[in-house]
Amino acid sequence: MDLLIFWDSGAPGGLGLPVSRCIGNLFALPAQICSNPLILNGYDGSRNQTDARAVLDSLGIFRQRQGVMGPILLVCGTDLFTAGVTSLFGLSRPRSLVAVVSTARLDNRFYELPENEEDLIDRLVKESAHEFGHLFSLEHCDNPECIMYPPLTLDDLDRKKQWFCASCRTRVESAILQTSV
Ligand SMILES: [Zn+2]
Ligand SMILES: [Zn+2]
Repeated sequence: MDLLIFWDSGAPGGLGLPVSRCIGNLFALPAQICSNPLILNGYDGSRNQTDARAVLDSLGIFRQRQGVMGPILLVCGTDLFTAGVTSLFGLSRPRSLVAVVSTARLDNRFYELPENEEDLIDRLVKESAHEFGHLFSLEHCDNPECIMYPPLTLDDLDRKKQWFCASCRTRVESAILQTSV
């Protein structure tokens, strides 16, 4: 099984390869990156944000129609919101095996700080791996350094490592074994 990553044209270019390589290493699975074949739905002009649920709807339909076996994660550049949540780094829908991550709030420039590509790649890897983790049925973890810790702020995200704690690691490995049988 491969991990499929769709890179939207609105997301910063050139980061797909380093991000997919790190994700592949974290899960010990091939991670394939390709440009997003879907039109990004759910843009709300009044808030200049995109409804993550609408993105997941079209991604879920695409995955089903195309008969994709593994999980799909879409990386977009537009800022996201969802029901009752004014902003978010990413959202997953485990029952459809799809997830979305936005680079908007992972980018220093959003906070009027100097651009830093290394930071952006690191945050994208952690946030993407977190959402893939949910697609492998993992829940949130209390260890603030673990990928599955739920970050509320950018500082929370920066404190995390590109690492699964021992119990999350065990869960990832057994979930991957189960899906590949
Ligand atoms: Zn989460
Ligand atoms: Zn953990």
